[in-house]
Amino acid sequence: MNFAGEFPAYRPRRLRASAALRRLVSETQLTAAQLVLPLFVRPGRKIRRPIQAMPGVFQLSPDELLREATRAHELGVPAILLFGIPDAKDAKATGAYASKGIVQESVRLLKKELPDLLIITDVCLCEYMEHGHCGIVQQSKTGAKILNDPTLKLLARTAASHVAAGADIVAPSDMMDGRVRAIRAQLDADSFEETPIISYAAKFASAFYGPFREAAESTPQFGDRRSYQMDAGNAREALREVALDIQEGADIVMVKPALAYLDILHRVKTEFGYPTAAYAVSAEHAMIKAAAANGWIDERAVTLESLLAMRRAGADIIITYAAMDAARWLKG
Ligand SMILES: [Zn+2]
Repeated sequence: MNFAGEFPAYRPRRLRASAALRRLVSETQLTAAQLVLPLFVRPGRKIRRPIQAMPGVFQLSPDELLREATRAHELGVPAILLFGIPDAKDAKATGAYASKGIVQESVRLLKKELPDLLIITDVCLCEYMEHGHCGIVQQSKTGAKILNDPTLKLLARTAASHVAAGADIVAPSDMMDGRVRAIRAQLDADSFEETPIISYAAKFASAFYGPFREAAESTPQFGDRRSYQMDAGNAREALREVALDIQEGADIVMVKPALAYLDILHRVKTEFGYPTAAYAVSAEHAMIKAAAANGWIDERAVTLESLLAMRRAGADIIITYAAMDAARWLKG
């Protein structure tokens, strides 16, 4: 504990007397430069399909994606996180690593038109698998199993195809063991040794992902993701997951979800001091939107306070569906 004075010599209210004074002693800053906007792209033209439970979020065709990304860029949001929704799914997630896949083509388009906007790509297989799981599935009499090691090859291939298309950063979200090492090795072998990896290092099996699955069309057709995503009660295991990803070559580590896991975020930042990202997930967004639509909360104030809390807990980077609104509000 830092030294603290005693009343009446110490009166904390002295430094809260005016807005200028409060700003002068503010410990935590939130700016648009720290925000990342997730976007969903699907094949087609002039498509802007709203996501029911995520007001303001759409599945976009590449032309609309470019418009949305341009808007974000103009508002000062430095990066987007791109998710792809392919036309066809199969058991090998072929669309995930196809050189003319929806993400690869969209990355080429975005980098050509908006070279300064950072493009982060989500690296996973669930949107491309007919069963909606993040890895290769083996069916047997006792049930379905998600195979770890054979999945790594496909993830590495997917990441390399994104970078070959021009992605600035890749973000593996699958939670297979050893995926960061596999991806790092593949990128290095393909002479992409300068490309950073953001790992979804501590990703919890969370009910807060509900609305996202509609957006990404990635709901598992059977079972759940508890054999690969983390149990909500495990904080020490989260630290081991982060340590593992850093050893394997992660440049930025992520905690997901954000608001219900601020303690994890804080421990990760304190323990490792690595660049740390928080993902404010779909239900966090949906809850604020729904309450605001009912007139129960002030959307702007609650959104900005939530993002500030993530920063205070240790997030250097915040991935949020409210990135454009927040950027606009922070401007004035
Ligand atoms: Zn996945």
